[in-house]
Amino acid sequence: MTTTLDPALLPAVADFVAADRTMLIGGQWVDAASGRTFATHDPATGQVITNVAHGEAADIDRAVAAARAAYEGPWSRMRPNERERLIWRIGDLLSERADVFGQLEALDNGKSVSIASAVDVPWSADVWRYNAGLVTKISGSSVTPSMPFAPPEQQFHAYTRRESLGVCGQIVPWNFPILMTTWKLAPALAAGNTVVLKPAEQTPLSALMLGELFEEAGFPPGVVNIVPGYGDAGAALSAHMDVDKVAFTGSTEVGKKIVQASTGNLKKVSLELGGKSPNIVYADADFDAAVAGSVAAWMFNHGQCCVAGTRMFVQREIFDDFTQAVADAASQAKIGPGLDPATELGPLVSQEQFDRVSSYIQQGLADGARALTGGKRWGTEGYFVEPTVFVDVKPEFSIVEEEIFGPVVVALPFDGEEDVAQAANNSIYGLAAGIWTKDISKAHRTAAAVQAGSVWVNQYNGFDTALPFGGFKQSGWGRELGDSAIDLYTQTKSVNVAL
Ligand code: NAP
Ligand code: MG
Repeated sequence: MTTTLDPALLPAVADFVAADRTMLIGGQWVDAASGRTFATHDPATGQVITNVAHGEAADIDRAVAAARAAYEGPWSRMRPNERERLIWRIGDLLSERADVFGQLEALDNGKSVSIASAVDVPWSADVWRYNAGLVTKISGSSVTPSMPFAPPEQQFHAYTRRESLGVCGQIVPWNFPILMTTWKLAPALAAGNTVVLKPAEQTPLSALMLGELFEEAGFPPGVVNIVPGYGDAGAALSAHMDVDKVAFTGSTEVGKKIVQASTGNLKKVSLELGGKSPNIVYADADFDAAVAGSVAAWMFNHGQCCVAGTRMFVQREIFDDFTQAVADAASQAKIGPGLDPATELGPLVSQEQFDRVSSYIQQGLADGARALTGGKRWGTEGYFVEPTVFVDVKPEFSIVEEEIFGPVVVALPFDGEEDVAQAANNSIYGLAAGIWTKDISKAHRTAAAVQAGSVWVNQYNGFDTALPFGGFKQSGWGRELGDSAIDLYTQTKSVNVAL
């Protein structure tokens, strides 16, 4: 029951969604073992885009077996510079098709096609190339051991090797589908592992299109397997006894379930989880730059960012002027479907997220918070929510404590450096933080005081492919990006030879 295709779709996108999509196992595009499918929706209209093979535990079993065979076959023995060339090629293919991937992403996720084509896809290509560059640099070290209990004339030759883990299970979210798929796949493959990937059920399409590139680039079959499905498929992957590592991005609640499921074979686990990140604006900040950056901090990607700066701490003497300026700027954002290139704020990803965000807004109003702007649904179809700025909030309100994952910010006043650090750290999360000030010493002191894996000064979302990213506290385990990502997908072996 696919609906009439949007005439604005590029031919490659229209062709891709005109047919039902299958899953990638062992280099073959196959139906689910059960024959079942599920629908993926356009969040701007709620209409079905296409149907996708519905992967379950039996499909995860097939995919893990294919990944194991590929691992033991060609992949782990391939020369590093051959793996480098294959991985680099994915970056090139993505770059060549940025408009196609960008439009498919906008269609399935609801995000702005302009941003998807200019940010999500090119950045993904950059991450593929960065990791291609690392393949030939993964090395151990030579160690001179003291061996205090060995006879003095005995000599030794000792060294470390960094080895791949084997088969990795990767579960990615719907907020940045192609980018999160890339953050997971590229370092895992660079380190010599094979993968079973489960895309989010809300947004499976870009990962499935990416799957087509592996064959085109010349990867051996089974190195990358892609099984779309729901939570039960993710649970099967994280509990699987022949999976050596599981990597997950999503909510802290599901992250804890992944940890529990991993205990059967004590597989390695890395987690990139929720956040409620503080964005701290001192009175001496560049006012206009701080307003623009603070709006982007919580409104980018419709607030569906794990790092969203959704607790905005503003120094008391500028609180009223600053929060009003943020509300005014936010209310001017152009809202519309992601496929419209002029759109700045698209719909939330699904009915479920729409209901969830709406209920937080209702709860905030019921608790006594005041919306300077927003607070309602936008339009009458699709999953649009007005950008919402809350003031008059108390630390114990659910809108202050909990991750909302929508275009909603709470603003809290503070007096100085000490009280703001304490207030900012009053959270179970510790993913990111923003700091706005012209005083460089204060910026560095505050950066040291906040409990967060990433701190951005006089900017927000200051990500870079080379900078490690991950959470303090309940925001996760491990660091993705940079060369830290290779650490997540390798293990060290010490070899000591008595000569
Ligand atoms: P979620 O609850 O974290 O779920 C993520 C994925 O894990 C879904 O595919 C889910 O499937 C699956 N899952 C559920 N139970 C599982 C289990 N026991 N083992 C393995 N996988 C399991 O995310 P969501 O439901 O899409 O969104 C809920 C909230 O999570 C959001 O509002 C947001 O706060 C947070 N979130 C955070 C990020 C991030 O980047 N950190 C990304 C997305 C969402 P089912 O949907 O079938 O349960
Ligand atoms: Mg969708």
